[in-house]
Amino acid sequence: MVFRRHCTDEIAELGDGFYHTPEWRHKRESILKRDHHECVRCREVHHRLRQANTVHHIEHLDEHPELALNDDNLVSLCFDCHNEVHPEKFEAFERKPKYDDEKW
Ligand SMILES: [Zn+2]
Ligand SMILES: [Zn+2]
Repeated sequence: MVFRRHCTDEIAELGDGFYHTPEWRHKRESILKRDHHECVRCREVHHRLRQANTVHHIEHLDEHPELALNDDNLVSLCFDCHNEVHPEKFEAFERKPKYDDEKW
């Protein structure tokens, strides 16, 4: 059975209080507004329009906390795209490719 965590605000990504702060909520709204509540990745990669419901950090917050509220580091994404840019979230649930020594 595959269990997928529902993570809209990246809370599961970090698990700390950042995503509950008023600063983040306010920033999140302004990023969604900037991107017209449209998924940037769908528009640029898939040439389709989809409503964004997630604001994603391009540089991960745990590695670049100084970019946490930097507009250039934030993009609006739909749920599917957000999953696609975070393969690590599902690593534990997917079979890892086995290395075959003969195919080096
Ligand atoms: Zn998308
Ligand atoms: Zn993210």
